[in-house]
Amino acid sequence: MIDLSKIQEAKKLLKQYFGYDEFRQGQEQLIEAALNGQDVLGIMPTGAGKSLCFQIPALMMDGITLVISPLISLMKDQVGTLNQAGIHAAFLNSSLTQGQYHTALKYAMQGRYKIIYVAPERLETEGFINFALNSGVKISMLAVDEAHCVSQWGQDFRPSYLKILEFLKKLPYRPVLTAYTATATAEVRDDIMDILNLRDPFVLTTGFDRENLYYAVKRPRDKYRELLSYLKEKEEKMPGSSGIIYCLSRKNVEEVCYQLREDGFSVTRYHAGLSDEERKENQEDFIYDRKQIMVATNAFGMGIDKPDVRFVVHYNMPKNMESYYQEAGRAGRDGEPAECILYYAPIDNRTNRFLIENGEENEELDAITKQIVMERDWERLRQMTFYCYTKECLRHYILNYFGEQTSGYCGNCLNCLTEFETVDVTMEAKDIIQCIRDCYRDFGLSTIVDILKGSKSQKVLSRHLDENSQYGALASESIARIRQIINEMLVYGYLEMTDDEYPVLSVADITKIDDNWNFEIKIPKEVEKEKEERKIQ
Ligand code: ADP
Ligand code: ZN
Repeated sequence: MIDLSKIQEAKKLLKQYFGYDEFRQGQEQLIEAALNGQDVLGIMPTGAGKSLCFQIPALMMDGITLVISPLISLMKDQVGTLNQAGIHAAFLNSSLTQGQYHTALKYAMQGRYKIIYVAPERLETEGFINFALNSGVKISMLAVDEAHCVSQWGQDFRPSYLKILEFLKKLPYRPVLTAYTATATAEVRDDIMDILNLRDPFVLTTGFDRENLYYAVKRPRDKYRELLSYLKEKEEKMPGSSGIIYCLSRKNVEEVCYQLREDGFSVTRYHAGLSDEERKENQEDFIYDRKQIMVATNAFGMGIDKPDVRFVVHYNMPKNMESYYQEAGRAGRDGEPAECILYYAPIDNRTNRFLIENGEENEELDAITKQIVMERDWERLRQMTFYCYTKECLRHYILNYFGEQTSGYCGNCLNCLTEFETVDVTMEAKDIIQCIRDCYRDFGLSTIVDILKGSKSQKVLSRHLDENSQYGALASESIARIRQIINEMLVYGYLEMTDDEYPVLSVADITKIDDNWNFEIKIPKEVEKEKEERKIQ
C-alpha cells in the first residue's frame, strides 16, 4: 500500500536536509519499504545514492538508526555530511579517544543522536551492548551499509559482519533490518539475505548501467607512453580534468606518480604504505582540486564522493570484474561523460594470481574454505581476463556479468566503435601447438615465438631449436601477431603457462585437435589495412 503522506514527508526532508528535488531511481521504493517496517535489500551501483535510503527513514522513525559501516573514513565522511545538513549523527569507532567515546556514548544514551554509525566489531563490546540494552533508547532500524562484507563470496569479506545477527538476537525487540550493497551477483545477494536473516525483504536492484561512462581496453606495448599520450590529449581537450590512475602495487603507484610529476603533471598518490596524515592530505588535495590526478592502489576510493572525476585509468588489470566496476565507477558520478580505460598486459594476470594465492585477506580461513575461496578467485580472474580480450561490446560484457541483459551494442565503448575483422588462424594455432609439442623441454613464450619466426639468434641456434619441425613456420607473421594468437590460446585454455619466475608454455592436457577444430581471432580493421599497405609497398 502506498502511503502518499509518508512519501511527501520523505520528499520534504530530501529537499530540506539534502537540497535535492527528486528521488533517484529506486530510492523512493527503498525508503517507503523501510518506513512500512519491511526489511530491505537495496542493490545499487556505486554513486547511485544508497545512503539517503536509510538516512531519510532514520529521520522519520522514532528512536534511533544504527548504521553498520566497514570503514572509519566512510563513517566520518557521512557523519560529517549529516552534521553539516543539521542532522544529529555520530560515529563510534576506534578513531575516538576513550574520552570522546564515552562522551559520544553518553549523548547517545540521552537520545541526542538520530543516527549512529558503528563498525561491526563494536557490536560485540560490553559498553555498546549495555547502551543498546539498558539505555532506554530504541533502535528502530539497523542499516547495514556495504552489506556484501557479510559474504565470503564478496570481495571485501569481513568476519565481524557475521556478528550482526548475534547482536540483533540480544535485543528484546527486532528493529527493521535494511542492507545495501553495490555488488549484484546472485551469490552475494543470497548470502546477505541468509546470513543477516532478512525477513521477507523488499529487494530492489536498480539498473547497473552507467550510460555516461565510456569503456576501453588497450594492450599497449609501453603502458607509460600510452598513458602519457592519453593525458596529454585530455589536457588539450579538457584542461584541468580530474582523474584516477589505479595500479596493482604500491611500487607501481610510486613509479607512475614520480614519472608523471617529472613530466609536469599535477599528481598525488595514495596507498596503504603511506602514513595516515599523508594519505589524508593527498586525498584532500585530490578532492579539492589542488591536485589533478590521483595515482593509487585499490586502497583509494571507498566512500570518496568526488562527482567530477572525468577518467579512471587502470594501469593494471584488477583481480575481478567487481573490483573493476566499482573502481571504474568512480568516474562521472555527476552524470557527465567520463572515461574508464584499462591497460592490459599478460603479466597482470600473473601478478593477480600471486596476490590471490598469497593474499592476507584469507588468512583467517580454514584450509578447505581457503581452497574454495581461491578457486573462486581464479575463476573471477579468468572472467576479468576475458573482459580484456573480448571484442564484444564492453558494456554488454560488464552488465551481462552482473546478470543484466543488453542489446549487445552500446555505441559508447571502444569495441562498439572499432570495426573488427575475424581472422581464421587455425593453421597458425596448429603450428604453435606442434612447435610446443616438438620441443624437448618447456620454453617460455619468447623462445617459442623465436622458433616460429625462424630466428637465427644464438639463443635459438645453440640449443638446436632450429631442428624443431615448426622452425620458421610463421616467419611471415609479425611477432605481435604470433604473441596475440598465443595469448588468446592461453585465454581459451588451449595452452597453459606456469606461474613462476620463468613462466613456460605447454599445451593443455584437454587440447584435442582434430580436423574440425578451428581458431579465430578478431583484429581491428585498421591494423589489417596497415598490414596490407605495408605488403604492397
Ligand atoms: P552510494 O552509497 O550509492 O555509492 P551515495 O549515497 O554516496 O552513493 O550518493 C552518491 C551521491 O549522490 C552523493 O553526492 C549524494 O548526495 C548524491 N545523491 C543521492 N541521492 C540524490 C538525489 N536524489 N538527487 C541528487 N543527488 C543525490
Ligand atoms: Zn559497447
